[in-house]
Amino acid sequence: MISTPRLFSAVLSIGTLLLLVSCDKAAPYLEKMKTALDRETAEEIARKNPLPDAEIPPPPPPVKMEPVVNKEARVSVLGYHDFTEGTSSNDMILNIEDFRRQMQAIRDAKLPVISMRQFLDWKQAKSDIPAECVMITIDDGWKATHTLALGVLKEFGYPFTVFLYNNYINIGGRSLTHEEVREIAQSGGTISSHSVSHQNLSRRGGRSDAAYDAWLREELVDSIRFLEENYGDTGAVVKTFAYPFGIYNDRVLELAREAGYEACFTVNGQKTGWDSETLQIGRYIVHGTTLANFDPALDFGGGAVTTGGRKLLAEQKSEDGEVKGPLVVVKPEANSVIGNRLPLIEVDLSKLTGVDPASIVLRISGFGRVAHQFDPASGLLRYQVPQRLRMETCAVQLSFRHGGSKDNELIGWTFQIDPVADYLSSESTAPGKNDPLTSGHAEEAAMAPPTATPPL
Ligand SMILES: [Zn+2]
Repeated sequence: MISTPRLFSAVLSIGTLLLLVSCDKAAPYLEKMKTALDRETAEEIARKNPLPDAEIPPPPPPVKMEPVVNKEARVSVLGYHDFTEGTSSNDMILNIEDFRRQMQAIRDAKLPVISMRQFLDWKQAKSDIPAECVMITIDDGWKATHTLALGVLKEFGYPFTVFLYNNYINIGGRSLTHEEVREIAQSGGTISSHSVSHQNLSRRGGRSDAAYDAWLREELVDSIRFLEENYGDTGAVVKTFAYPFGIYNDRVLELAREAGYEACFTVNGQKTGWDSETLQIGRYIVHGTTLANFDPALDFGGGAVTTGGRKLLAEQKSEDGEVKGPLVVVKPEANSVIGNRLPLIEVDLSKLTGVDPASIVLRISGFGRVAHQFDPASGLLRYQVPQRLRMETCAVQLSFRHGGSKDNELIGWTFQIDPVADYLSSESTAPGKNDPLTSGHAEEAAMAPPTATPPL
């Protein structure tokens, strides 16, 4: 005779078992029970039939390893805009053969090109990337991205990312059509956001705090939503953002984080390391007329100078180890950030002997070759930038012969312009413009995307 509680308990057990069997969750549970039973049986058998001493025990089960990523790896992110088959007269437009040569130079340098997804997975410690590698990005959505650059990128098999802004998609003229964007997405291109309107996001334009936030959210949130709605089915849309003109402020950063961006990109030419801020990733904007930013981008050897000239700009040491400073001193210094869009470029060549004045060629991004002044007596070369620099990263290239050599020495370096510092300094000198946020600000007008010429 079975007592009522025991009967109740037995029914409950059978019920539980049936319930487990009837649902998917039961499988691991039953598997566990089976394994436990198997183990018991095996142990029992082992007790009954002891193994000889020489028997090798079974190997332990494999331990699940967390992915180990290289925190010393560095990525050079290249930034392009528009392309032409003709000669470029604008730094934002690159001759397509120059582009092809650059892609070949990446291959020759044995630098792997990684995709945006690979880059993000590394930053998120999910998987590894090569110690030194390159990422290619193209901004704005110019038709030549499809008609010229895509063919070259396919030829090399390089992944790349296009940063598009809604107001310049499928509107005719030189904008990409929806079909062209889709083809890019299906040919190794990642599709990411470059805002809705391509305006300077740090410019409040007299808006209240609430209105400014609402506008920023529109630029940040609506832009990526538009891309997901239109091209999400290709699987190529990744939630990253390139700031228009590379400009942002603290509020933009906060709202970009709130919007859930995995990474945001600027135009400050510098390598990205493990510790680099994900919402302020630097890019080398490759200029169409001087090509000056490309060499520093590919130089992983330690700084923003070309390989050949690096020794001239590096600290010199005497035989007893005394540091004597570099042979050639440049101003503004390499990788420095200045608060003035009208800098004096200065190069001190006085420590070099036999500098040939006729051989000197100075090039500046945005200006091309410029007419410098060189004083052979002092060894000083000077160039006063005559028009406000519109880019955030300025690249300088200087070639010359010295010491009777027939070879040209080539040095190149970049410096950055802090837009906020410049903003304030220009305000104090500009008469009649007391409010830096009014629409009449000269620099803002200069940076607003014109319809005929490409924006940054
Ligand atoms: Zn742009």
